[in-house]
Amino acid sequence: MNIILLGPPGAGKGTQAQRLVERHGMKQLSTGDMLRAAVKAGTPVGLKAKAVMEAGQLVSDEIVSALIGDELDALAAGQGAIFDGYPRTAPQAESLGEILASRGKVLDHVIELDVNEDALVERITGRYTCATCGKGYHDTFEKPAVEGTCDKCGGHEFKRRPDDNEETVRTRMAEYRAKTAPILPIYEAQGIVSRVNGMADMDDVTAAIEAILGKR
Ligand SMILES: [Zn+2]
Repeated sequence: MNIILLGPPGAGKGTQAQRLVERHGMKQLSTGDMLRAAVKAGTPVGLKAKAVMEAGQLVSDEIVSALIGDELDALAAGQGAIFDGYPRTAPQAESLGEILASRGKVLDHVIELDVNEDALVERITGRYTCATCGKGYHDTFEKPAVEGTCDKCGGHEFKRRPDDNEETVRTRMAEYRAKTAPILPIYEAQGIVSRVNGMADMDDVTAAIEAILGKR
């Protein structure tokens, strides 16, 4: 089973990918991680990528394709892949299809964790933590029993992450839409796109993903 997992920051993609890895022994193939690992390991593709990056240039699709090919070849028999952050463009989507086909594999599902942007803004901008013990709270969903006092340690100081603000969340959503816009229609046309409500409880999201994987 090979899938692409899509979702904007805050949709819980990392958690769901981790669960797929744990439950199904799948391998998460994130291009950034693959690139760093290949450079570090000094593989032929890694050396090529290193030279390109040192020259201040972007790593070409050709190099990324070679990296993905290497990673797929390194999978155990029957081990599935979760593509993360790739493909981003129509030509990359086409390459991925070819890379898989040349190994007798197919892309089974493209699963998008769908979010309601306004609800996501509320979820992210409302969160804060106790400055002393780190317990997490939320303005709407999880207030301390006594306002201004941490339930766990009795502390009175709380902090918010500077990037948990509306502008950042909306900018990230726009970036996400721009990144996925070129590839979603391609996979829609193939009938392999499924959407899961990323605003639901994490376990419910996992169950919905499992149901999609079982449909094959
Ligand atoms: Zn505390």
